[in-house]
Amino acid sequence: MRFSGLRVLKEGLTGNKGWKPHWRDPEPKAEYDILIIGGGGHGLATAYYLAKEHGLTNIAVLEKGYIGGGNIGRNTTIVRANYFLQGNSEFYSHSLKLWEGLEEDLNYNVMHSQRGIINLFHSDGQRDARARQGNMMISQGDDAIMLGRDELRGMLPYLDFDNARFPIYGGLYHPRGGTARHDAVAWGFARGADQRGVDLLQNCEVTGIDIEDGQVRGVQTSRGAIKAKKVAMVVAGRSSQVAAMAGMHLPIESHVLQAFVTEGLKPVIDNVVTFGMGHFYISQSDKGGLVFGGDLDFYSSYAARGNLPTAEHVMEAGMAMMPMIGKAKMLRSWGGIMDMSPDGSPIIDRTHIDGLYVNCGWNYGGFKAVPGSGNVFAHLLATDRYHENATRFQLDRFCTGRGIIDEEGKGSQHNLH
Ligand SMILES: Cc1cc2nc3c(=O)[nH]c(=O)nc-3n(C[C@H](O)[C@H](O)[C@H](O)COP(=O)(O)OP(=O)(O)OC[C@H]3O[C@@H](n4cnc5c(N)ncnc54)[C@H](O)[C@@H]3O)c2cc1C
Repeated sequence: MRFSGLRVLKEGLTGNKGWKPHWRDPEPKAEYDILIIGGGGHGLATAYYLAKEHGLTNIAVLEKGYIGGGNIGRNTTIVRANYFLQGNSEFYSHSLKLWEGLEEDLNYNVMHSQRGIINLFHSDGQRDARARQGNMMISQGDDAIMLGRDELRGMLPYLDFDNARFPIYGGLYHPRGGTARHDAVAWGFARGADQRGVDLLQNCEVTGIDIEDGQVRGVQTSRGAIKAKKVAMVVAGRSSQVAAMAGMHLPIESHVLQAFVTEGLKPVIDNVVTFGMGHFYISQSDKGGLVFGGDLDFYSSYAARGNLPTAEHVMEAGMAMMPMIGKAKMLRSWGGIMDMSPDGSPIIDRTHIDGLYVNCGWNYGGFKAVPGSGNVFAHLLATDRYHENATRFQLDRFCTGRGIIDEEGKGSQHNLH
């Protein structure tokens, strides 16, 4: 079934009785060509591009819960391509281009809104760093504009321009950045993959990975054993646990990241704004809620919920940047489990086991990567060659020390990225 304005009108006039479920609920087959563990954004996008671009459809996505229940439905929805280092910059640029055609491609409204992102800076040093970042973005073919304090005052009058402790010097503006509706992205990719013949198996937890003579043979699941020629681990915050089933120890730590939303307000924040003096970022959802977040909880955990000290820390950063937020009532907060890598950049690679592949290490930024990651990972799975825009996300960089992509030069500490 294709979606269109005409279809919405027809259904509206006939009692909305013609809508069908977005995807089937098939029984697992005994064997597939490729199994994708994890029905989050990255797993679903991988399945979609395998079917669409490589004609491979004998594929199943194995999801232990329900589609959209992981980080893909828990993030703050920011989409951008504003990276500094080679390796990241061409990849995120590729991903943003896919975002720009995604709704048409999926025939699905993911509410992608290029409302622009502004990274504030508050010192000469930060201005220099943002200028270099902006130049790198432009040289990569993306967009970046340096804004001074007076221009910002006109654009973002609600910021605290009189705060001498954190004076606002200006901001780096990335007009093509913005937001998208997170769970719609999961649903759109799920529907697209299902329509092309991919089996989406929900409530299907992988409990073991079968390996013989260095070659993957399939997996054990809560719905029985399933054989496969290739298996892809795409489980975000659970990457270390699933890789351990294959005897692997990944350089990943799992940490909780919280997000917050206020009651619905009239339109007040037109863009995404980030605070250069603390880890705080904010946008306004189409329903009117102010959606914001900040730092990790700073200890490893598999609990998808947060704690009060971090909530307080995030609110304080928000108040320092835009005191008017203190008048809004907070409606909800939640947490997601982040797969933090030592250099803050992802891993998209084969493993030492034939037929076993890994995609993880998305840190704070895996939502915007969803189309790009699915696209390049599908290329790797189908051809056994790295996609030209993802040649550097190799697992062995953490053994050899060569090719580390540490965007902010923070060193090898997972929770700092
Ligand atoms: C609060 C918060 C805010 C964020 N904000 C942003 C943002 O603004 N912009 C941005 O780009 N990124 C953001 N992120 C990061 C982004 O959401 C993640 O990096 C990304 O969603 C992770 O990839 P995924 O969608 O595939 O993960 P998930 O949706 O978590 O998918 C992994 C799936 O694997 C499944 N799974 C795990 N173990 C098994 C098993 N054994 N068997 C079967 N299935 C299994 C899980 O149930 C889960 O559904 C944020 C994250 C959080 C938590």
